[in-house]
Amino acid sequence: MKRFIAGAVCPRCSEMDKLRTWRDDEQEIQYRECVNCHYTDQQSTKVQMQPEELPTRVNQPHTQTLAGEETVIQFVPNTDFTKH
Ligand SMILES: [Zn+2]
Repeated sequence: MKRFIAGAVCPRCSEMDKLRTWRDDEQEIQYRECVNCHYTDQQSTKVQMQPEELPTRVNQPHTQTLAGEETVIQFVPNTDFTKH
């Protein structure tokens, strides 16, 4: 699916909002095309991250530090505040 890049300026003809972009997920390539001068370029969408690590990190429960721990939070309200 091609879509225009809002505010993008073509590096060749310097026209704004003439660039369309789409990506080929099989090739993992992001394409750009200028509808004004037919400039095209492409770049890899491969980035240096490992998606497999993300779910485990996100799904790590934080309950371990909350449950069973002797977490005494002394939240003392300011009693002087209620006198007024
Ligand atoms: Zn152009």
